[in-house]
Amino acid sequence: MFEEQLGTTCEECERELGDPQCMLVYRTERGERRAYECACGAVTITVHR
Ligand SMILES: [Zn+2]
Repeated sequence: MFEEQLGTTCEECERELGDPQCMLVYRTERGERRAYECACGAVTITVHR
């Protein structure tokens, strides 16, 4: 079984976002959410189920 893709890209500048940019992780009933803060200042939220 594959894990969901780790990391993502910024919605604003499409720079790659990974663990160094991950500033917040929290779990909800719908899965794990991660907030990434890009160097450009944009915040991208991902959901991992
Ligand atoms: Zn960016």
